[in-house]
Amino acid sequence: MMKHMPGNKTFYITTSIPYVNAAPHVGFAFELLLADVLARHHRLSGSEVFFLTGTDEHGKKIQEAAEKAGKSPQDYVDGVAKQFQELAVALGVSNDDFIRTSDRARHIPVAVKVWQELKSKGDIYKEKYEGLYCVGCEAFLREVEIENGKCRIHQKEVQKV
Ligand SMILES: [Zn+2]
Repeated sequence: MMKHMPGNKTFYITTSIPYVNAAPHVGFAFELLLADVLARHHRLSGSEVFFLTGTDEHGKKIQEAAEKAGKSPQDYVDGVAKQFQELAVALGVSNDDFIRTSDRARHIPVAVKVWQELKSKGDIYKEKYEGLYCVGCEAFLREVEIENGKCRIHQKEVQKV
């Protein structure tokens, strides 16, 4: 836990948290290294640094990958998340923590608290929405992002959701 004292410089950095629908690729290794360079630079400059990385273990993309592998989503993400943790160790990255969005003790209670606060303020509400969705992007797409019924990035059919 970081102390926040007047005059003490603090620096917080996190990588994105990649989806664990597949083994880590070189793009994420590069991101880990860039974040590590910044964390080390700030430590050497006298700042108190907290460097976080982790994995996003929810989403349709992961559900589909688990089904394809014949595993439950939790079994599937446990195996792939381990590869991401091992990547950080193999690269000698100086992260202070590794958070997984399926962590029932540390992540889920905070996510639930934030959700409830937003809901109590009316920022989250139930409503109907329909759009064209790309599982690869894990996002609803705009017309300009679709060509011949396919996501321009993934070249896969979008789904009406
Ligand atoms: Zn896409």
